[in-house]
Amino acid sequence: MATNRTLTMIKPDAYADGHTGEILQIIQRAGFKIVALKLTQLSAEKAGEFYAVHKEKPFYGDLCKYMSSGPIVAAILEKENAVADFRELIGATNPADSTTGTIRNLFAKSLEANAVHGSDSDENAKIEGDFHFADDEQF
Ligand code: UDP
Ligand code: MG
Repeated sequence: MATNRTLTMIKPDAYADGHTGEILQIIQRAGFKIVALKLTQLSAEKAGEFYAVHKEKPFYGDLCKYMSSGPIVAAILEKENAVADFRELIGATNPADSTTGTIRNLFAKSLEANAVHGSDSDENAKIEGDFHFADDEQF
C-alpha cells in the first residue's frame, strides 16, 4: 500500500493566498485519490522534525520558520506510482526551473515558498504520512 501513496502539504503562502481548492482540483484531476486530508499548523519544532534531513543545510532555520508561519493543508494521496508521478505534477523545487503548468510553476512565490511539498521516496511517504496522520485511527 505504501508504494502507492505519497504525502503532500499545501504550504503557508499557497494556503493563505486561497489556492487550496485549485491545487486539490489539479491533484484530483491528475488521478490522485485523497485518502486523508486536514488543515493544520506546525510548530517550529514539528517543522524541524519534518525537515530533519535538511538540518545541516543553510536554509533549514528559515524553512522551519516559514513552514510554521501559518496554516497548511496536509494530505495523503493514492495513485499507482504516486511518489514519482506527484513529483512530476508539482515540478522542480526551484520554481524558476519548473515546467510550465506544474503546481509550483503556477503557484510558487520563491524557492522557499514553493506552494507544495511532495515526498521523495516510498519510505519517506510512509514516514511523512504517519507524521501527520498516525493519531487518526483510520489511517
Ligand atoms: N528550500 C529552500 N532553499 C533551498 C532548497 C530548498 O528554502 O535552497 C526549501 C523549499 O521549500 C523546499 C524545501 O526546502 O521545498 C525542502 O527542500 P528539498 O530539497 O527537499 O526540496 P523538495 O523535495 O521540496 O522539492
Ligand atoms: Mg524533499
